[in-house]
Amino acid sequence: MTASAPALRIAPPAFLADPALQRVLAALPDARIVGGAVRDALAGHTVADIDLATPSLPARITQALRDAGIRAIPTGIDHGTVTALVDGTGFEITTLRRDVATDGRHATVAFTDDWRQDAARRDFSMNAMSMSAAGEVFDYFNGISDLRAGLVRFVGDPATRIAEDYLRILRFFRFQARYAAPGAAPDLAALRAIGDGVPGLGILSPERVWGELRRILAAPDPGAAVVLMAALGVLGKVLPGADAGGLSQLIAIGAPADPLLRLAALGAGADELRLSTAERTHLLALCQPLSLTPSVDDDSIRRALAEVPAEILIGRAWLNEVRPGTLSPRLEGGAEPYPSWADLRDRIASIPRPIFPLEGRDVLALGFLPGPQVGELLRQVRSWWLQAGCVPDASACQAELARRVAG
Ligand code: ATP
Ligand code: MG
Repeated sequence: MTASAPALRIAPPAFLADPALQRVLAALPDARIVGGAVRDALAGHTVADIDLATPSLPARITQALRDAGIRAIPTGIDHGTVTALVDGTGFEITTLRRDVATDGRHATVAFTDDWRQDAARRDFSMNAMSMSAAGEVFDYFNGISDLRAGLVRFVGDPATRIAEDYLRILRFFRFQARYAAPGAAPDLAALRAIGDGVPGLGILSPERVWGELRRILAAPDPGAAVVLMAALGVLGKVLPGADAGGLSQLIAIGAPADPLLRLAALGAGADELRLSTAERTHLLALCQPLSLTPSVDDDSIRRALAEVPAEILIGRAWLNEVRPGTLSPRLEGGAEPYPSWADLRDRIASIPRPIFPLEGRDVLALGFLPGPQVGELLRQVRSWWLQAGCVPDASACQAELARRVAG
């Protein structure tokens, strides 16, 4: 055990009072909260996931939880992780570890009972703190002062830590995006080591790269971090052809913090990344051209909405606003930006998505047998309905259908 653990007493943060967490900590008196929860509590951010660590071995963790009537799930028993489930909330509890061997993407670990060793294998000083149930903070590598200064600093020598796991390059920018003090110079030794480490990013799996990139892009304002990634060659390595400027503009005009919209604004093909099928479909839809301009009439908006969900059209309108060369009254020179892309987005959001009121059975009701003719008639009436701005209701569409059948 660490004799000289530098404990600091602070007013216990609000999340500590959570009854579910209290039950787990009561069952495991030697456990502490570790990693992101401690960092976020000290930074005054809301604490989302709570991870715990303990010198106890997994079998003891499991037994102690069960003795306290808490469900214990062996989520990663080989790695020393047990999940405690209390009232629907899961707490990951991991036995303290130290690295035995690393190869640039994973580590072989051994259990330890030394809190400092466990802290030393974590990536950044602000992520290497732990907190007892009473709210004492154990800060082994000056995490508190780095967090206050907005300095993302590696635990130990940056080049060594990067060579152990190249993902840490991307993790640096995740925390840079969220915790760096605006205008403050990033840690120079880290920047040098990152620049040198760029080729190593190539050994990482595309899933892990996209996992980190998505988190970077989900930060409230990742603009400066992404510009820094571009300057160091990191952005070009993970997203060849990406343009950090498009993202900065998207942020500047107040677009939502949507990672896929931001990825689209970077303007690079995402083939190198392993997006989920749903993400890929969404991204491809965002990247299609927008058929609308700010001065279109409501009929055109309804027509577009009949084919494409509002969320996608609004996303395309954000992207059109930052893409040079798009037809925008604002870019065409008038001092009065009216109507603007923002007006267009508001109109898209406020118009209900039109739904074509006829179905196959409306055609069958006229005596047709199921077959290609049914679909063809529906298509004809639908395109008439679209031409009419999606305004005709069910009976008007039925009348049009009857007209076509008769004629
Ligand atoms: P977030 O709130 O964004 O999830 P987090 O700090 O919880 O932030 P995680 O990726 O969930 O980040 O990791 C939890 C903790 O595990 C980190 O705080 C850090 O201490 C440690 N960690 C995670 N990944 C690495 C890594 N690749 N190298 C070293 N330490 C890591
Ligand atoms: Mg986390």
